[in-house]
Amino acid sequence: MYLDYAAATPLDEKVKAAMAPFWQKQFGNPSAQYQLGRTARQAVDGARARIAQTVRAQPKEIVFTAGGTESVNLAIFGAVRNFLLGGAGERRRKFSPHLIVSAVEHECVLNSARALEAEGCRVTYLPVDRLGRVSLADVQQAVGPETVLISIMYANNEIGTVQPVAEIGRWLKTYRHKSFRRGKEPLLFHTDACQAAGYLDLDVEELGVDLMSVNGGKLYGPKQTGFLYVRSGVSLKPLLYGGGQEFDLRGGTENVPGIVGLAESVVAAQAGRAKESARLSSLAAKFYRQVKEQVPGVLLNGPACQPIKGGDKIERLPNNLNFTFPAIDSEALMFYLDSYGIAASTASACSSNSNGEPSHVLLAIGKTERQAKSSIRFTMGRQTRQDELNYVLKVLTSIVAMLSQVENIK
Ligand SMILES: *Cc1c(COP(=O)(O)O)cnc(C)c1O
Repeated sequence: MYLDYAAATPLDEKVKAAMAPFWQKQFGNPSAQYQLGRTARQAVDGARARIAQTVRAQPKEIVFTAGGTESVNLAIFGAVRNFLLGGAGERRRKFSPHLIVSAVEHECVLNSARALEAEGCRVTYLPVDRLGRVSLADVQQAVGPETVLISIMYANNEIGTVQPVAEIGRWLKTYRHKSFRRGKEPLLFHTDACQAAGYLDLDVEELGVDLMSVNGGKLYGPKQTGFLYVRSGVSLKPLLYGGGQEFDLRGGTENVPGIVGLAESVVAAQAGRAKESARLSSLAAKFYRQVKEQVPGVLLNGPACQPIKGGDKIERLPNNLNFTFPAIDSEALMFYLDSYGIAASTASACSSNSNGEPSHVLLAIGKTERQAKSSIRFTMGRQTRQDELNYVLKVLTSIVAMLSQVENIK
């Protein structure tokens, strides 16, 4: 029983089939001029065009990377280094670049920001409310003449909170228009859409973003694939210097099968998102109701969990449930569940090396350290079915009851 789709997803059969020709038969280097190379180039260009159309961008605005982390790093370091190296001399001397990120970003955003802080950048970490939401007013207050980049995730990987990205994007448009920034250094807006891509609209015009990160590994595509949307006219410096691939933004021979698989997974995920959101949100709402009935003290972290119908504004990722079982050690709970064949996660899987540190997301929404260490995340996906959740409910409630008794004895 796999309930950790926010950490990894199995490869879709159709994605696998689309990739198949490019391992052995069509293995050419897209930069080669002969037929084998041209076929590979066509595959890469085709994938780029399909993704561009899906997010309402132009093909030349899609830069392929090796995953979400790389896309995010390219957005953040690329923007700051372009400012430092390419910015107007006057401004360069006057200011050290300023970044705005939310306190609940994925580690790849937070650690990029911290690395730049160590190099002399100023970083504002925006607080969030009890549901994990950033407020537009806080963004407005934090923006200053030296702000180079705002990076706010589209949806949170731990508690599923959807951020008001389009609202911030709309405000930024008018702010840029009115402010002195016209014709000067642009203020860029990036969103990490790695968790959102399966459930929310990726239309970059609707969102008003300049940069957007998406990965294949969370979308039933291959791991270590992804793209960064880079709005036309936005300049970045590359992280990887090489043979000029990806519009000089990412050197290295293209991962042709990966790119083809990524495109297939992005198109399929966006095409199926409304139906899948409705299905999973109704499974999640029912599961939550049942858990609440059987474990009275349980707390749901993040926005309310409700069935989503077409046209509803989505405030919580439909596949995410994050619970606090007060006084229960979530690590113990996780391992007991594992022994019954149930895979769930105690914080984001990406921070599994952080030596039992409580989740920065749960602390940011006002949980105590104790509560944060009593929290567990279930994320559902395409293979999740009601009968599976019935079994999980039975096992979960018995283990929680057993662990509570152990706590009482202690
Ligand atoms: C998984 C994830 C990433 C990192 O993506 P990788 O492909 O693992 O590098 C970044 N941001 C969010 C929100 C994620 O969930």
